[in-house]
Amino acid sequence: MIEKVVIANRGEIALRIQRACRLLGIRTVALHSEADRDAKYVRLADESVCIGPARATDSYLNIPAVISAAEVTDAQAIHPGYGFLSENADFAERVEQSGFIFIGPRAETIRLMGDKISAIKAMKKAGVPCVPGSDGPIGVNDKETLGVAVDIGYPVLIKAAAGGGGKGMRVVHTEAALLNAVALTRSEAKAAFGNDTVYMEKYLDNPRHIEFQVLADQHGHAIHLGERDCSLQRRHQKVVEECPAPGLPEKLRHKIGERCAEACEKVGYRGAGTFEFLYQDGEFYFIEMNTRVQVEHPVTEMVTGVDIVKEQLLIASGERLSYRQKDIAWRGHAIECRINAEDPRSFTPSPGRITQYHPPGGPGIRVDSHIYNNYVVPPYYDSMIAKVIAHGDTRALAMARMRIALTEMVIDGIKTNIPLHQDIMNDAAFIAGGVNIHYLEKKLGL
Ligand code: ADP
Repeated sequence: MIEKVVIANRGEIALRIQRACRLLGIRTVALHSEADRDAKYVRLADESVCIGPARATDSYLNIPAVISAAEVTDAQAIHPGYGFLSENADFAERVEQSGFIFIGPRAETIRLMGDKISAIKAMKKAGVPCVPGSDGPIGVNDKETLGVAVDIGYPVLIKAAAGGGGKGMRVVHTEAALLNAVALTRSEAKAAFGNDTVYMEKYLDNPRHIEFQVLADQHGHAIHLGERDCSLQRRHQKVVEECPAPGLPEKLRHKIGERCAEACEKVGYRGAGTFEFLYQDGEFYFIEMNTRVQVEHPVTEMVTGVDIVKEQLLIASGERLSYRQKDIAWRGHAIECRINAEDPRSFTPSPGRITQYHPPGGPGIRVDSHIYNNYVVPPYYDSMIAKVIAHGDTRALAMARMRIALTEMVIDGIKTNIPLHQDIMNDAAFIAGGVNIHYLEKKLGL
């Protein structure tokens, strides 16, 4: 069993990882930037190391600093959380070369999934349904490119193989616009990701975003924990997530979930992971795999009772999965609201001192947050400051509990998007369930 873990992250996830470590009796080392010196999880950790100035490139993204911190504290493993270095294959490789356990998949798996073309190829081979597309990079032969688009059918989407964060994508509606769009996406991809490889896939016009959570141990066993619906997004950023996806037929859940678990076994996946799909007209289309724990993991935990971060630590320690597929049961419904320090209408970040903080409570409510009275939200990082998760036997009950929680929650001194979440929880289409990925932006008039 791992005895000491370095937490190479900040904010609520640093606290979440620390809680799982404590549960297993694992000692923790909190890494922090100069801006996060006073953070709650730094105080609560067994040890802490300042790894650099506020700017993420000088601290949380500084690979040598993170690895030396593990060396000086004599830790055995590094948990990367989400964001920052969590999906950086070079980092994972250097962690393991330096003799530490990377709490996540092997570097080669991260690399395979980080390139969208190789990820799609591997998933297709493993029987996971994918979006109809070019089945590889778009070449230099224009006639061939035009032919591929005709076969797929317009509209098509040109995507950068190395793309991320919703960048490096272009929708093309007509043949006349195709070649120019390919050239533009190529040069943008080169500038943004240093890789000009692009591919083509069918553009789905009104899909939902539904993703499957998996866990795989180092003994060849993988299970799935069902799905999450994360269709409420703004600029490709998730705002609200829920488990299960409203109206998804149970048979389909099991079928797709099993495909994902089998795919993990086939590619030798290790740890927690998420298969992201677009879902339209009753069909699933794989778009990418996230090789880390996700912000929205708590909704799955509330419904299945599985502690995903604890499982990550056990898997990294070489243990077998604590569950078999038949042990997994889904009870009730859970919804998560991401609370951001931002203006609820303009979305401008709103860092600063929190003068009053009152978290909500009561049956079925969970709050994952690192904030407290007088905490200063630094301006340097992501604006998410809390996650409120509501669980109930039915979706209606989870939603009712969320409404109460949002009215109880007080965060003064800065602006937050709590009013936006209150609007969403009273929105007729959201209440009915099953809105698509464009719904929120349309509602906001964007
Ligand atoms: P990233 O790594 O940038 O998040 P994804 O491949 O996950 O890239 O795509 C980001 C978002 O773009 C998806 O969540 C979805 O909203 C949209 N998208 C991706 N592929 C398609 C497609 N084939 N049709 C329609 N929308 C798509």
